[in-house]
Amino acid sequence: MIKPFPEVTVLQDREGVNHQVAQLLPVALYMTDQDGLLTFYNEKAAELWGRRPRLNDPTELPFCGSWKLYHPDGTVMSHAQCPMAKALRYNRSYKGEEVCLERPDGSRAIALVNIDPIFGPDGKLEGAVNVFYDITSYKAMEEHSRLQASIVESSEDAIISKDLKSIIKSWNHGAEKIFGYTEKEAVGRSVTMLIPPDRLHEEQEILGRIYRGEQVKHFETIRLTKDGKKIPISLTISPIKNNRGEVIGASKIARDITESTRLKQQLQENAEKLEQLNSYKDEFIGIASHELKTPLTTIKAYLQLLQRELKEETQQQFVTTTLNHVSKLTRLVSELLDVSKVQAGKLAFNFEDFDFDELLKEGIQAIQQTNQTHQIICEDCPENTLIRADRHRLEQVIINLLTNAIKYSPNADKVIIHVTKEENNILVSVKDFGMGIPSSELDKLFSRFFRVEGLPPNIQGLGMGLYISNEIIKGHQGKMWVESEWNKGSVFYFRLPLS
Ligand code: ADP
Repeated sequence: MIKPFPEVTVLQDREGVNHQVAQLLPVALYMTDQDGLLTFYNEKAAELWGRRPRLNDPTELPFCGSWKLYHPDGTVMSHAQCPMAKALRYNRSYKGEEVCLERPDGSRAIALVNIDPIFGPDGKLEGAVNVFYDITSYKAMEEHSRLQASIVESSEDAIISKDLKSIIKSWNHGAEKIFGYTEKEAVGRSVTMLIPPDRLHEEQEILGRIYRGEQVKHFETIRLTKDGKKIPISLTISPIKNNRGEVIGASKIARDITESTRLKQQLQENAEKLEQLNSYKDEFIGIASHELKTPLTTIKAYLQLLQRELKEETQQQFVTTTLNHVSKLTRLVSELLDVSKVQAGKLAFNFEDFDFDELLKEGIQAIQQTNQTHQIICEDCPENTLIRADRHRLEQVIINLLTNAIKYSPNADKVIIHVTKEENNILVSVKDFGMGIPSSELDKLFSRFFRVEGLPPNIQGLGMGLYISNEIIKGHQGKMWVESEWNKGSVFYFRLPLS
């Protein structure tokens, strides 16, 4: 807290300085005698010092009323080193020097000093006067501007400002690098020199938005360099406003996106190539599996004929084994064919009315004939459930779910089926007590060729069954899903509309 100023209101001292006028000055002022003893200071000086030193008191600090002093670089300045002390010592003026003052409360201010020695009529040094003012905020602003300028200058992006007539007002190093014009060549010219003729309308559109005070963000376009090269750039343009809030120009940040555009293009080309290769592969799988089907059917027919002809049991056994393998191969080939049909969007359905329970029973029977390890139990399965669907395709789904339930529960002995008739739907579940599926894998289960990692090597498969089954159910406007717990078992569900 600064104490009230102790001076008399009007005082005319020896040097002719009107102390009342000095009090009214918007700047700080103080005077010393030839020995540096403070003889006068005004209110502004007391404010800046944060204290009121006693006048004409040899016990006070000499030369300056400030508590502590520092050089602009922050090092301590003794009172004897201050500009006032030097002015008295060397009988000369000190103008425009910066001194850092510290107040008793520890706060600091930067002052710009202007000192003149005072000489008496006989030319003898009688003291000095110092008019100084607080430039702390100005210095902070200057520092801030310097920092901003160095950010702008060191930016790889072009940072340009222009007025509302599109005349370039500033041009950084990034702009020089991207567009090839030096600052001298660019400032004062119209920004349209950077715009290809067929895109000049863009400038009008951008200016329109800037006038409305809007920002234009990440606008990807083409601009011209000094040597006429067209480069892809991303523009972000913001309005520049004066202190009344009026738009007076725009600042532009332009980023050269040649490299990222090239990479994007390359990625797209690669994706297209991959898609093309993928469709070739699907086409190949489709053709190959189709071509394999006919000879397999013929082999199967001739093997069945041969089986009838053969009398010896061992020979019959050989043919039975061969027939089993042919069946496996046939299933595999038709699954491959189905996958390629799904990929090509050509999985067709033949809808007919039939009893779902009958179909289920047939499916269970077919599986049970070849698998004696597990008992397939149909709990509370309703009878006479008339449904309109593709019988053959639904059988395929049931066979797949039952085969999997047995295949993936080698240590269990049963599989439980539940069928619930809902108002317009039928809900079927197939529950096993096998290895289950890790929860992290559940969302990928119905993807093409997906198999859970780390399956025992004797459990073979190609990851097509669930993909096809899910597509079949979807083709009936139904839904398929799974609930599973690792090492406990799984329940596969599907819900189908009855008609
Ligand atoms: P495949 O059985 O020929 O591998 P699927 O498409 O029928 O192909 O099944 C995909 C994967 O889902 C299987 O490889 C297996 O990891 C997992 N899976 C399917 N059914 C079950 C089940 N009942 N229990 C545990 N895992 C299963």
